[in-house]
Amino acid sequence: MTFVVTEPCIKCTYKHCIDPCPVDCFREGPDFLVIDPEMCIDCNVCATECPVKAIYQDKELPDDQLEFIEINRRLARIYPSATNVKVASAEKDEWANVRDKRHLLELPEST
Ligand code: SF4
Repeated sequence: MTFVVTEPCIKCTYKHCIDPCPVDCFREGPDFLVIDPEMCIDCNVCATECPVKAIYQDKELPDDQLEFIEINRRLARIYPSATNVKVASAEKDEWANVRDKRHLLELPEST
């Protein structure tokens, strides 16, 4: 099993989840974080830290977020390790309240 970052994180990325992870399995893209499923030890520390509740265990994902299992897997291969540098901005706060953001996430053709 693994934990999975889902749609609410897109363009939000508060990053409260990164430091508490004991195995450094977060990866960071321009507007989104993902969890490397090969590294996650299923400890549940990160999910409780996320202020927008974007992180779920894979077996507890809402039906409309199931595609994020594959999205995390694919992007973890190409995103670099996440930094804990936090950028607070009014824009992030606005995006935190937007739920329909999946179309804004750029995915590579094939990974
Ligand atoms: Fe890291 Fe634990 Fe979250 Fe997995 S569940 S990403 S190991 S903090």
